[in-house]
Amino acid sequence: MIQFPSYWEREEWLNPPDLLIVGGGIVGASIALFYKNKYPGHNVVITDKGFTPEGASTRNAGFACIGSVSEHLADIQISGEDTVLKRIERRWTGLQLLRETLGEHALEYRNTGGFEIFTDHEKFIQCRENIGLMNELLKRQMGIEGIYSEKTYCGYPAIFNRVEGAVNSGRMMRILHDILAKAGVRTWWNSEVKSVKSNRVVFNDGFEMHADKIVLAVNGFIPRLAKLPVKPARGYVFVTKPIPNLPWTGTFHYDEGYVYFRNIGNRLLLGGGRNIAKEEETTDVFGINPAVKKYLIHFADHVLNLPKGWVIDIEWSGIMGMTGNKEPIIKQLEPELWAAVGLSGMGVAIGMQVAKEVVDSLEF
Ligand SMILES: Cc1cc2nc3c(=O)[nH]c(=O)nc-3n(C[C@H](O)[C@H](O)[C@H](O)COP(=O)(O)OP(=O)(O)OC[C@H]3O[C@@H](n4cnc5c(N)ncnc54)[C@H](O)[C@@H]3O)c2cc1C
Repeated sequence: MIQFPSYWEREEWLNPPDLLIVGGGIVGASIALFYKNKYPGHNVVITDKGFTPEGASTRNAGFACIGSVSEHLADIQISGEDTVLKRIERRWTGLQLLRETLGEHALEYRNTGGFEIFTDHEKFIQCRENIGLMNELLKRQMGIEGIYSEKTYCGYPAIFNRVEGAVNSGRMMRILHDILAKAGVRTWWNSEVKSVKSNRVVFNDGFEMHADKIVLAVNGFIPRLAKLPVKPARGYVFVTKPIPNLPWTGTFHYDEGYVYFRNIGNRLLLGGGRNIAKEEETTDVFGINPAVKKYLIHFADHVLNLPKGWVIDIEWSGIMGMTGNKEPIIKQLEPELWAAVGLSGMGVAIGMQVAKEVVDSLEF
């Protein structure tokens, strides 16, 4: 705790920044980047509770995707066609922005194309019947033709998405923070904000700081700081040890996007399954739910038919922030305080776009 800041600290380190961003994930870091591009002379500080941006941005699966047909059909039931089409377009625009801003090489971007596989025949028929409609709607919305097509993969009926890709999420965030450091943005890691009011934050250790403007970019952790309709959702992921001749190459979805897997080198990354324990997984506490893990292991053995003897090398959880209709919340809470949260499991795709919208549309 900084009990008695020195003159030097007060004048050079702790003087109120023009912009203080709480949360150094893709949204907070990208807000800092776009803001600094707009106001190069301004003093920008990011503060994050983790040693790394340890919410979702370095704990996700790295799918650079606009979503699968079954996911879109389920979402249309909840939010309506217009909202879902605009969201798909935002995902697409966000991915272009990400690729342009950081560069495909830096992201280790791979244009893999993505498959949604089905084990439920009726569900497949229902989705297949909607391929033409989805393609037509997306052509009108985004001007891209023939995104989805019928295929088979490893014996399963599948729908291929030709514009899907994958990135290295860890690299993405590291490069983003390297750029920020070079631009003079300071990031205070391991510095948790306990409360916030207008243009003042109080850190966990009681230290208080003012800033001209504050943006909360804490996604699923926002209920700890402000009353906004975002629920945390924990996601589980594991990566196997190398598996020789792994037949699953590329990126894959299953069950409305609740299960996802991809090949990284000759290892399989498999994640999701929180829909089998939705209530327990509505939490912002990291941890591994044995039921979800068991479900995914069963999926790997009996649906993906991984060869006997495969083992998990590393497993982790990440925290997402979900809104009722999956639309992110960008909102001014008080005259000098904004929030950009509730990325609803799509932040690799829409994170930078949301950050750009914050910096473009808000009066700083
Ligand atoms: C398992 C999993 C898989 C996913 N897969 C994909 C995918 O394949 N494709 C895709 O598009 N999206 C995916 N996502 C979603 C995506 O990762 C998120 O939407 C995105 O990273 C959200 O970014 P963010 O910056 O809003 O939040 P975060 O990355 O969570 O960043 C918020 C930051 O705020 C910090 N913080 C929180 N509270 C405080 C506080 N009080 N004081 C200081 N700091 C604080 C946290 O430490 C964290 O670093 C996945 C998410 C998970 C969890």
